[in-house]
Amino acid sequence: MLELISHLLHMLLSLFALSDQEHITPEHPLQHSIPGGVVILDAGNREQRPQATFRGKPVMLLPPNENRDQWKAVIGIPLSAKPGDHQALINGKTHTFTIKSHPYKEQRLTVKRKHVNLSEEALKRVRAEKKDMLAAFRNFEQTETWQPMAWPLKGILTSPFGLQRYFNGQKRNPHSGLDIAANTGTPIVAPSDGKVTLTGDFYFNGNTVFMDHGEGLISMFCHMDSIEVKEGDVLTAGDRLGTVGATGRVTGPHLHWTVSLNDARINPLLILSPHPGVVSKALLTSAAREDKATNGVVQTAVSAD
Ligand SMILES: [Zn+2]
Repeated sequence: MLELISHLLHMLLSLFALSDQEHITPEHPLQHSIPGGVVILDAGNREQRPQATFRGKPVMLLPPNENRDQWKAVIGIPLSAKPGDHQALINGKTHTFTIKSHPYKEQRLTVKRKHVNLSEEALKRVRAEKKDMLAAFRNFEQTETWQPMAWPLKGILTSPFGLQRYFNGQKRNPHSGLDIAANTGTPIVAPSDGKVTLTGDFYFNGNTVFMDHGEGLISMFCHMDSIEVKEGDVLTAGDRLGTVGATGRVTGPHLHWTVSLNDARINPLLILSPHPGVVSKALLTSAAREDKATNGVVQTAVSAD
């Protein structure tokens, strides 16, 4: 987390440095070689799109342009990845890179028993939903573009990415997104261009929208009060998706926002735009305060995923 905060502060500092100049749009997501991070590899300078996979899945490819003379393979690293050497395949060749360990904090939460010890019926529902959600995370549309994202709403960051979670004392999957608390009814907007690929009311995630931004970059928005889009809608950054709510397994109204790259859930902070006003100072301060003061224990407005 400290590293991430330093990333953010770095972004903020670069804003001041740039304030009199034209904004520089980042060319690709921030590299952070840890579980839940992003690794960027050179993928050659041929005209033809390279073949690039990680763990058998296609990865984001960005073509050469005036600022880079090579294709870039942008690889999402799952939170479950072990520190050490990992391999990607680019045009049939093995590329080895190293993932560093990262001390994500623990978080202990108390939730309703029905949300930890599931009935047979609930389990059946959860399994069916998981299938649909995994399919949405595995969509891959070749667009060869990437656009930095904006925050999907203004709110308070109540739970950072990667926390190791315990629900009523039982170890569960780590927190694979950001929780941003805001009042019920607060509008949520598309953080960048993309297509709505799945909507629904899910057991844990409540009212949920999936957006496909291309090249295997997928967003998931959970616990919404209302959904204002439908599957197949093509959206521009800033278009309304719906509103903040408290549906599904939650302790209060907030947006849970997951960002996934090649089916690996990554820290959304790595794909956020550094433009002024997008990464707000208040949000940074609240994230830093959260990290320092709570030792990972957050009682309000957080979610299950
Ligand atoms: Zn969450």
